[in-house]
Amino acid sequence: MKFLSTQNSSLRVSAAQAIAQGISDEGGLFVPECFPKLDWQSLLPLSYPERAAKVLSAYIDDFSEEEILEMTRAAYANFGAPVNDDILELYHGPTLAFKDMALQLLPHLMRASARVTGEKREILILVATSGDTGKAALEGFANQSGIRVIVFYPDGGVSRAQKLQMVTQEGNNVKVVAVKGNFDDAQSGVKRIFTDEDIRARLNERGVVLSSANSINLGRLLPQVAYYFSAYADMVLQGKVESGAPMNICVPTGNFGNILAAAYAKRMGLPVGKLICASNQNHVLTDFIRTGVYDRRREFLISSSPSMDILISSNLERMLFEIVGRNDETVRTYMRALKAEGIYTLAPDELAALQEEFYGGWTDEPAVRATIEKTYRTTGHVIDPHTAVAVGVLESYRNETGDNRPCVVAATASPYKFGRAVYDALGGDVSSLDDFACCDAVAALANEKVPAAISALPTKPVLHTQVCTPEEMVDVVLG
Ligand SMILES: *Cc1c(COP(=O)(O)O)cnc(C)c1O
Repeated sequence: MKFLSTQNSSLRVSAAQAIAQGISDEGGLFVPECFPKLDWQSLLPLSYPERAAKVLSAYIDDFSEEEILEMTRAAYANFGAPVNDDILELYHGPTLAFKDMALQLLPHLMRASARVTGEKREILILVATSGDTGKAALEGFANQSGIRVIVFYPDGGVSRAQKLQMVTQEGNNVKVVAVKGNFDDAQSGVKRIFTDEDIRARLNERGVVLSSANSINLGRLLPQVAYYFSAYADMVLQGKVESGAPMNICVPTGNFGNILAAAYAKRMGLPVGKLICASNQNHVLTDFIRTGVYDRRREFLISSSPSMDILISSNLERMLFEIVGRNDETVRTYMRALKAEGIYTLAPDELAALQEEFYGGWTDEPAVRATIEKTYRTTGHVIDPHTAVAVGVLESYRNETGDNRPCVVAATASPYKFGRAVYDALGGDVSSLDDFACCDAVAALANEKVPAAISALPTKPVLHTQVCTPEEMVDVVLG
């Protein structure tokens, strides 16, 4: 299978090259030349690593299926993606967020890709994070030879636990820097560095090549397709979905990467009904799906689901490519308009295609709190604010449309990453408690233990204190 770019469809590169490179030279994103069919029934008896290897092998032919299976076995040795009560729990990895599903595997894919492409230079991974990607990338890449990582996070735009997870990261090849600005500032800064030929040339002279672990990297996207196949298989095995019947999927969305993987799974033949795209109060995607107008010219709001506080949804470009009939020129036109004017508008037939596949909805902050409380009261499950956005939107979707088909909700973070917001929503008095005491209180309510990845944080030494402006990000990379 070859991969082309959303902004240059005459390009043909291998999966290994797309993964090693991260983003295409002209700024487009790598997409498969076609969607391979995969028989989901063949996955029923398999373990999670085996299911993931099957899905990845459908796209990647640079390495053998046995090699890929070795990688998935290593990445998913200690966790998988179980479905419980129609909730697809994607947060059992080392950093307690769904990003681990891809970022535990990406280092394996990247090292193998560098071998295949003959890359001898040191790989410098730049990450802009709204919270969870940064830690997951650090955890995945720390102490990997031949690779360095710099993580930029928005100063004040992540939770205390998220920040502590990053600034306490150990490893001889990692750097963590706070950017004065919001996530879009950090992400734009990284994108600027990636597309700046002068910076690339200067790094090349030092034997360094840039790559990306952000969700625009193909190596992030493909592992995510796997868990939707796995979820469908589990729903069938649990008797929740009739074999072959369509299943809806509801995903709390920011950069559109997670829900895009579900759309890819559908194109590979998985029986998927409606894709429900759930946003928080930064509901640029809801508006887009409802009106066809993508308009980022609005106030950036900081919410209790910071990993979804995003106004420029980078992976949407891949969906756009499908919606406009894989016309790279149309994608270029829209992306140029987004950059220059902050807005673009779909043609009527394009909007119809988008709405055929997706429903968009959003919830405000009081509704998120109410959903956390109601879910706990009615099911005993404690969910995090990101997952609560999806649960709330699914309820509205069902009320609005009467579509009561089986639906899995992607649960993207452990509630203990957001203990303060969760305990507050559950009616706790957080005024005199720090975040860790809030987690203890939530654990007592849920009758669980706080995961060690959180409870060990307060005693870990802070190793990273650097702060920069968006303009200074270049100096950090070249410094
Ligand atoms: C990253 C993240 C999201 C958003 O995922 P996208 O792929 O960007 O849509 C949602 N929830 C959590 C907890 C996340 O870390």
